[in-house]
Amino acid sequence: MSGHEVPWTLRCVDTGAVYGGLEPRYRSDNGATLDVVHDFGAAAATIDLDAFDQRRRSKLAVDRSGVWRFRELILPVSADAPITKPEGNTNLYYSDSIARYVGLDSFGLKHEGENPTGSFKDRGMTVGITMARMLGMRRVACASTGNTSASMAAYAAQAGMQAFVFIPEGKIAYGKLSQALAYGATTIQLDGDFDRAMELVQEVCTSEGIYLLNSVNPFRIEGQKAIGFELLQDLDWTVPDWIVLPGGNLGNNAALSKGMSELLGLGLIDRLPRIAVIQAAGANPLYRAFRDGGPVHPLANAETLATAIRIGNPVSWRKSQRGIAACDGVVEDVTDQEILDAKAYVDAAGIGAEPASCATVAGARKLVAAGVIDSAASVCGILTGHLLKDPDAVVGYHCGELEGIDSRFLNAPIRVSAELGPIIDLVRAARS
Ligand SMILES: *Cc1c(COP(=O)(O)O)cnc(C)c1O
Repeated sequence: MSGHEVPWTLRCVDTGAVYGGLEPRYRSDNGATLDVVHDFGAAAATIDLDAFDQRRRSKLAVDRSGVWRFRELILPVSADAPITKPEGNTNLYYSDSIARYVGLDSFGLKHEGENPTGSFKDRGMTVGITMARMLGMRRVACASTGNTSASMAAYAAQAGMQAFVFIPEGKIAYGKLSQALAYGATTIQLDGDFDRAMELVQEVCTSEGIYLLNSVNPFRIEGQKAIGFELLQDLDWTVPDWIVLPGGNLGNNAALSKGMSELLGLGLIDRLPRIAVIQAAGANPLYRAFRDGGPVHPLANAETLATAIRIGNPVSWRKSQRGIAACDGVVEDVTDQEILDAKAYVDAAGIGAEPASCATVAGARKLVAAGVIDSAASVCGILTGHLLKDPDAVVGYHCGELEGIDSRFLNAPIRVSAELGPIIDLVRAARS
């Protein structure tokens, strides 16, 4: 395959060194991450938004996919190449109670937890696993705080590949661990944190010839651009003033700004949205760099209940900072208490999301209060993962059992003897 010409290359984010589009590499010779650089060339003239809208109504999985219907912008392969479930087509919710909580006139929340395995990771994974097949790989691996492993395990199963998952011991939410096990991944639990698991998986992949599907893999970033594309499509191709999303390994916000910049370059939109990246206060290396200026310095012992963003040494920090600069973005951090307060609102609105997702809502609220985001602005947030990913966080919160957290919106189960009288008393007393 590697002899074939493809209309993309890989480029070092640091030095600009260029590599072939089908080289199985994740980093440049000097160790920096790589961008997929598209040569839209003549294809640029054929890309049009109406075609994307028509595909969305198609019965063909590859066209209906919220990733592959944008394939000219993601990875221009033939329509039979993708391994797709299909993914995307997530809802954009508007909740008055959440908007009021955040202080906005209106707040759209795109729920990426509605993807096939319950997080936005599916959008990158369908591209990563498709690339694995194009490269003839039969084994794939990742280190994960949970959702990447759940997604990779599912797509590897679909593609008939063997999956190896490296997870930090005791630091993974049960919904996610269940998925990796259920989908048949060989699951390796390490007595180290995520950052250590990440180091080790890269070495194992290099020495064993296994395809690495962490977000250091530049093709995953290409797939995740589609969150932004589909959001604009939801908005009839109008660009919101702000898009707010959580940041952990920082691939997702890097993808968002890359995709938006490419749309602008192709003349398909006429301005960029501003982006706001929200980190947990205990895992905030990007926030610190934004506040202090300069590059991102790794943070030892990252800590937060929002395990999906419990990352001290983010792989995509350079791409992230570049994208934030391009999109006139900001970075904010929020405490676990703020995350769980916001989560209580998101959940009680009947929408629901895992803790990391709710950093979006907590961060938007903080930025509105600080006057950074105007209350009349058009603002959309990304909810990154499903409520059921982390049932322990939900039950722990509502039973008032999370250490260091004040369960201000507690909704604990009420114990009662199995008799009609006391139950009726209870029902009448509980009437709101
Ligand atoms: C992966 C993940 C994030 C963080 O995304 P990055 O690309 O690592 O910044 C946030 N929320 C959830 C639910 C995730 O699974």
